[in-house]
Amino acid sequence: MYSDLIEKYKKIQPSQNAVRILTERYFIKTPAGEFIEKSWHDVAHRVARVVASAELINNPALENLSKSEKLDYIKLLEKEFFDLLASRIFIPNSPTLFNSGMGVDYELLYKPLEQMELDDYSKIIQMRNHLHMLSACFVVPVEDSIDGIFTAVKEYALITKAGGGIGSNFSSLRPNGSFVAGTHGKASGPISFMHVFNSAVSVVEQGYRRRGALMGILNIDHPDIMDFISAKKGNDGEKVLRFFNISVGIPMRREELLRIYERDGTIRLNHSKWHGEKEIKVREIIQKMAQSAWETGDPGMVFLGEMNRYYALYPHKEIISTNPCGEIGLGAYEACNLGSIDLAKLYTQNGVDWDALEKATRIAVRFLDNVIDVNVFPIDKISKAVKESRRLGLGIMGFADLLYKMDIPYDSEEARRLAKNIMAFMALHSHEESSKLGEEKGNFPLFEQSRYHTEDDFVPFSMDESDYDEEIFEHFRNVAPKFKRNVAVLAIAPTGSISNIADTSSGLEPNFLLAYVRYVNKQNSDEREPLFYVNEVLKQKLPEDLINSIKDKLVEDGTLKHLEIDEEIKRVFVVSHDIKPIDHLLMQEAFQCYVDNNISKTINLPNSATVDDVVEVYIEALKHKIRGLTIYRDGSLQTQVLTSTKSLKT
Ligand code: ADP
Repeated sequence: MYSDLIEKYKKIQPSQNAVRILTERYFIKTPAGEFIEKSWHDVAHRVARVVASAELINNPALENLSKSEKLDYIKLLEKEFFDLLASRIFIPNSPTLFNSGMGVDYELLYKPLEQMELDDYSKIIQMRNHLHMLSACFVVPVEDSIDGIFTAVKEYALITKAGGGIGSNFSSLRPNGSFVAGTHGKASGPISFMHVFNSAVSVVEQGYRRRGALMGILNIDHPDIMDFISAKKGNDGEKVLRFFNISVGIPMRREELLRIYERDGTIRLNHSKWHGEKEIKVREIIQKMAQSAWETGDPGMVFLGEMNRYYALYPHKEIISTNPCGEIGLGAYEACNLGSIDLAKLYTQNGVDWDALEKATRIAVRFLDNVIDVNVFPIDKISKAVKESRRLGLGIMGFADLLYKMDIPYDSEEARRLAKNIMAFMALHSHEESSKLGEEKGNFPLFEQSRYHTEDDFVPFSMDESDYDEEIFEHFRNVAPKFKRNVAVLAIAPTGSISNIADTSSGLEPNFLLAYVRYVNKQNSDEREPLFYVNEVLKQKLPEDLINSIKDKLVEDGTLKHLEIDEEIKRVFVVSHDIKPIDHLLMQEAFQCYVDNNISKTINLPNSATVDDVVEVYIEALKHKIRGLTIYRDGSLQTQVLTSTKSLKT
């Protein structure tokens, strides 16, 4: 039951690793450096209170209530938000944790709930300052003029300072060598300008909490595409376009590119300011992409055509780029806030607790919708675009740990069936909640132009086969044409930091390692000591003495593969590199079929994979219902974040 799980997980303390991360980056300090927050519950109190106060900004339903009824309503919501956050069953993206309450008196943020008055909530709204920015994902358009480019550079700096990740499609910039009328000179092209954006971001600190993150896209038909593909060559993770992930944009449908590839056809390069004539074979482009991705992990591919195919506002509005990790496609000046439910915590002896998942999903949608209203964006155009369509990104984390708990191997049909059912279930309940919010508080302002309203039977994702398909179709046939608060609701983020805070596996990814050692400072000293980490579920499933006897080997390999233990256990406790690329892809597709935004997923290849293996993955990707592709060959980037001791040595 939901309330039992909430009570259970509220009591479980975050691990040593989670506390270290919270202490280093998340707990609020005074300007003098004194900690105001000392526990995860302190963070949960602050965030729940601020996000509940949004009801005073944008809830027409509250207007007819008396003052005391309004207060009771908001306090009840705060309590619901607090419980969910405190349990770590749901955690919003890092900027919401960092910046909720910026500018607000500490006294208002932490006083006991019983003492809260309506005025206190109003004061929270009034006191928010310009750093009260709670979203993780932004897309900034870059216009083809010096003025336009440097306006965007400034916008990058402002968003980075507030803690957001930014993506841009640089295809509007005229290619290298083309004519510039104003100076009779030659343009230096999109890639050279990307270095300017990279430098700007490199000198803007995010309150010392994290380095910036950028996504640079160039469409496949831009005349500079071949140079773009190798723009990060020589990259060792530090030097070349360090803050950028780069991706080739595919504006047409996936199937169309596949068709051109299969008949060995070409793409005609073009740009309105370019007078050249050139066609390139798609096979040549793909080959170069594969070579480059084999070397450095970049570029990825983003299927913009696929995103627009399922975008409720297309063609009225268009998705032009994604955020840095790819889970959200956005139009110009759009932003999105994310949040993720930890599926592993929703496991009970009977499998997934579906009632609890429904409740958590519904509260999370309300929470994320409120985040839009308490957000303060550094640029007015962003405020406007966000409020017009109210896009949300609710997703999951802890999927791999859930599978471990359920004894299901990640690379199995059973796991994919579970993935589809979970995501379809969440799609149904999150969209129902968004429609309910639409009825209560008002639809998103562009609703009447959206395909929810104008098209019969529009569903914002591709669907596949799940236990909830009929209910989903019914929702989009009967309810969505009348009510919808949010243009899109779901996305699966990498959850790089928040999964650590939740002590769970990240996003939909398999675990990368089952054990590792991290060297941390001893308390009050500069001396380092090893902190051994072994996957919690494995620890619960194997006897302690067995774990101790295999620990060294496990830390060395990261996987159980080469150990002599029960084959069943080995089959279930697979890690990324035990899983074939095709099984990574199939899992991405399983989830994507029920997600209206996108999914962040890395297709891992072993170090021994060849360039041809990468090409094969690309072609396979074009055959599946996915919206982007990121591949990573183990060991191809020296500064890889997580590595087993063995792969470090080789
Ligand atoms: P978290 O776990 O910290 O909430 P995720 O790893 O899920 O974040 O990333 C979600 C999104 O947040 C990314 O796609 C990106 O847009 C943004 N993001 C992540 N890391 C950074 C960073 N260092 N700087 C700016 N934005 C970031």
